[in-house]
Amino acid sequence: AGCALVLVASACGSTGSNSAATGPATNTPKPKVGVILPDTASSARWEDSDKPLLTSQLSFAGIDPDIQNAQGDEKRFAELADKMIAEKVNVLMITPLSTDGGAAVERKAKAAGIPVIDYDRISLGGTAEYYVSFNNIAVGQLQADGLLQCLGNKSGASIIEIEGASTDNNATQFHEGHEQVLKPRYDSGSLRLVASKSIDKWSPDIAAATFTQVLDANGGHVDGVLSANDGMAASIEAVLKQRNITVPVTGQDATLGGLQAVLRGTQCMTVYKPIDIEAEAASRLAIALATGRHGDADDLATGNTKDPKGNRDVKSVLLGPQSISKFDVQGLVAKGVVKTSE
Ligand code: BGC
Repeated sequence: AGCALVLVASACGSTGSNSAATGPATNTPKPKVGVILPDTASSARWEDSDKPLLTSQLSFAGIDPDIQNAQGDEKRFAELADKMIAEKVNVLMITPLSTDGGAAVERKAKAAGIPVIDYDRISLGGTAEYYVSFNNIAVGQLQADGLLQCLGNKSGASIIEIEGASTDNNATQFHEGHEQVLKPRYDSGSLRLVASKSIDKWSPDIAAATFTQVLDANGGHVDGVLSANDGMAASIEAVLKQRNITVPVTGQDATLGGLQAVLRGTQCMTVYKPIDIEAEAASRLAIALATGRHGDADDLATGNTKDPKGNRDVKSVLLGPQSISKFDVQGLVAKGVVKTSE
């Protein structure tokens, strides 16, 4: 079953053959794919899920993966990219810290003839030919729907929105998605928006400090928090706990910490994005490109994403997110995302 689903050409064709369709001969160097992930602090996903999944998917197909983490540092991000470009990786896969930083790297890669895949975050105004992510507007809608459900019929509830980094187009889309649901309610007065704040680098520490400030300025009162991901939700929940306040807080990523908080009742919901499928889709694209099968890559990326900044369409694979309340955690256990013991 694994063969049918994953990495078809290289993994299932033969072992060690040198036919073009099944990958390189064993004595020639393996194609190299360079991957740059954004940080470790903003979400557990990058090191706990994306990195091991991409490593195994790419290695399984006979690719030599070089997976690095920019540790939230734009300069380090650019240096890692320069090094990979100088080493002539066959494909570069990046999750940019900012769309501008990502676009700068992509222009250099393009000049060196290296194809780029935007992994999870798009670089607006960039030159990457492919983009693999989720329907990020839908993520925001699910967060708002979850928040409304947890609030029940509480009329006039005061909401604080803690958003992701303004340099991350995903954060813009999550915001757009939840505002589609919440804005009409703010306008009608059935909900009250206390403040909406973007958090630099999605930092949980900055999220806690910003949330505290907004909360204090509102006389310590809040009825619900739209937090854009689990990492920031955890630090917001810690602030609320100190003040003995229990109100619905949303999240995203279905991290272990997030799921535990959902079961504990300190977090209202999270959004599960099947990162294994995202990593698989990106790996399949990278394998096709690294082995010179551009037509196959185009067949895989059948979606289209508008890049208004670059005035272009980017060939995409966009996957569906799923809302997770405490009633849905068992389903994730059944899927093998988490264990009951955890
Ligand atoms: C990703 C989220 C993640 C956030 C912080 C976003 O671009 O889509 O899954 O929680 O970045 O790393």
